[in-house]
Amino acid sequence: MQQSIPESALVRARTALGDFDLTVCSDGTYLLDGGAMFGVVPKTLWSQRIPADAENRILLGLNTVIVRTGRHTIAIETGIGNKQPPKLREIFQNQELLPRSLAAAGVRPEKVDIVINTHLHFDHCGWNTTLHPDGSVTPTFPNARYFAHRGEVEHGHLQLERDRVSYLSPNYDPLIDSGQMTLLDSAAFANAPDGQVEICPGIRAELFPGHTAQMMGIHIEPPRRAESRPSGSTPTPHACYIGDLLPTTHHLDITWVMGYDLDPLRCIEERKRFYTRAIPEQWLVLFTHDHDTPMARVGLNEKGKPVVLG
Ligand SMILES: [Zn+2]
Repeated sequence: MQQSIPESALVRARTALGDFDLTVCSDGTYLLDGGAMFGVVPKTLWSQRIPADAENRILLGLNTVIVRTGRHTIAIETGIGNKQPPKLREIFQNQELLPRSLAAAGVRPEKVDIVINTHLHFDHCGWNTTLHPDGSVTPTFPNARYFAHRGEVEHGHLQLERDRVSYLSPNYDPLIDSGQMTLLDSAAFANAPDGQVEICPGIRAELFPGHTAQMMGIHIEPPRRAESRPSGSTPTPHACYIGDLLPTTHHLDITWVMGYDLDPLRCIEERKRFYTRAIPEQWLVLFTHDHDTPMARVGLNEKGKPVVLG
């Protein structure tokens, strides 16, 4: 079942952000219906940006961003994992690569001390836990504290007709039962400065609802060091893992929201809110499902549309 993927494909990008090191690891790729990924956008338009195969599927990435701060090693998102039944693996054609990708990037799972899930859809938290041949499921990152939103867990447990297939409790229930997962609740965000809850110094979560009711974006902003600050107008380094608010660089147009989004109108408003900060402050945007362009800065073209800056 495993497709051969060159080792060079396992680490998708790497950059320094102030004193932090950012590495984009990957659980590989998977295939999803192009129509579902672009909602009401006609295929004649989206297929100009990303080609569909004979079954109308497009190739998407599964990016895990590793942030090394010097004190902490943080994993944001954990791909699809290895608990999918064979039938679903056949549909998605995913490769379960994250352990190999982490090894290629020099990240030992035992060293990861913080794991953050923007939301709990199966393709964002799959390697939170690992399925073993004897049927047991254990934490992939044994020494990590995991963070997710309480509302995501509660929504997943409802197993609603619309999206129950997206919520697989072995990805989070064992971690909640063992006390290894911290559930952030809405009150924490309501009471936090600027609505941003600090996970550790330089890493903060903020709600960007629409795709799900409590999806979080993750801000990465190394603390300032006064002595190393260049004078002048250099902006503070700031990256944001924006989860499924902007799944790929092909979704930058504010109205190109997904069929999967529970509240597409809210997504449009949240995208506008995101751009009002991300563009003027030159944030490095980290895209969860863009295999080719996992990180980019965004600007406006001559028509005022958001585009990747070259
Ligand atoms: Zn999702």
